[in-house]
Amino acid sequence: MNDSWLIKPSFDDVYPVAAYGEGVFIYDEHGNKYLDGSSGAVTASIGHAVPEIVEAVTEQARKISFVYRSQFTSQPAEKLAEKLNDLAFEADDPYYSFFVNSGSEANETALKIAVQYWQEQGMYRKHKIISRWTSYHGITMGALSMSGHTERRKRFAPMLEDYPGISPPYCYRRPAQESCSDYEMKCADELDAAIRRTGAEQVAAFIAEPIIGAAGGVIVPSAEYYKRIKEICDHHQVLFIADEVMTGIGRTGKMFAMEHYGVKPDILTLGKGMSAGYAPIAAALIHDRILEPIRKGSKAIIGGHTYSANPQSSAVALAVLTFIEKHQLVDRSAKNGEYLVNQLRNMALTTPIVGDVRGKGLLIGIEFVSHLFTKTPFPKQLNLTRLLVEKARDKGLLIYPASAGIEGGDGDAIIVSPPLTINKQEMDTLVKLLQDSIHEVQRDLM
Ligand code: PLP
Repeated sequence: MNDSWLIKPSFDDVYPVAAYGEGVFIYDEHGNKYLDGSSGAVTASIGHAVPEIVEAVTEQARKISFVYRSQFTSQPAEKLAEKLNDLAFEADDPYYSFFVNSGSEANETALKIAVQYWQEQGMYRKHKIISRWTSYHGITMGALSMSGHTERRKRFAPMLEDYPGISPPYCYRRPAQESCSDYEMKCADELDAAIRRTGAEQVAAFIAEPIIGAAGGVIVPSAEYYKRIKEICDHHQVLFIADEVMTGIGRTGKMFAMEHYGVKPDILTLGKGMSAGYAPIAAALIHDRILEPIRKGSKAIIGGHTYSANPQSSAVALAVLTFIEKHQLVDRSAKNGEYLVNQLRNMALTTPIVGDVRGKGLLIGIEFVSHLFTKTPFPKQLNLTRLLVEKARDKGLLIYPASAGIEGGDGDAIIVSPPLTINKQEMDTLVKLLQDSIHEVQRDLM
């Protein structure tokens, strides 16, 4: 007999049934306790079952949960857009919000608005988007076309747009004779070469995750890298889209990761942490100067969904932002991140399969290697990442599987990204459970 009619990500896997959550913990139906060391998919950034959010859900549901976006706007959606504009960079840099339901949709929206921006000015051939070979921008066809995630692309490759790609600034695996800063500049200059090769008259935008997440096991570029990227974009009249779906809303110790770099994107996308998992909502924040030709031209954006700017989801996201500000969780992410990354680096002294621990704030990546000095990855068929994730789960710790960032999708990595609310004792428990998991997997490999 079939015990579940729900289609899950893998037909082979058996998942525990979540019963309830409390702070940084999730409990399954049998009462087993899991420390949420990854905030799910880097999403539940204020922890589970926060009373203020439960109240906001109820309060809005009592008023109205749904209006259709081309019949009504709503107070929560208006307030949320205003709040995001207040949070995004300086006051003289107005960003308008287009609300959707997922990070993939936010990036699809960004792609279409970038193309429309040039069309409204008579540049009809500017429709290609350049991205990095190592990147993930979403699972829908446009977002997947822009993504350099081998595993998620390969089945649909013939249907995807043939967009140009460039190398990620992946310093851990740079050629031995090169400094990290020289290597990063070389990677940035690949954008210049790719635009020239394609023809600037065909390139609408460059999209990048400020810090590369699932596709690269958290790759953190320098400010110089992004300054060069922006110079190249401006020089060739190419828009810069920052995909902050994973990094946005405090995850990296700043409200937006681009604040670390002092570079303002033309379009910035958000998802995940925006509602901390309490409701499906995401956004493309579009700079006023990108909207200007659309306002003066066709005056309409062809995009959006039935649930866009949903009042219920907007009210939840507003409550999440209020909670983050009230509890100063952005600063807390920076401080906790520093503590956690140091503890994980100490842990690495006892775990020789850990090649690198890197991150910003509470977005931390750990890359695994079979030889520390040669940095040789483990054979793909071993599926070390999966072994680690399962071992940790058996011990009551949830971590997020990632790729290491090697072109072609080789290499093992995990993401450690607990809720920003995590305390020191919980971080110590996280490190201990992870260390035990890695030790056991190491032992099994011998
Ligand atoms: N962009 C980034 C950087 C992501 O990490 C993700 C999801 O992991 C997405 C976009 C896609 O978001 P969603 O899964 O909400 O569609």
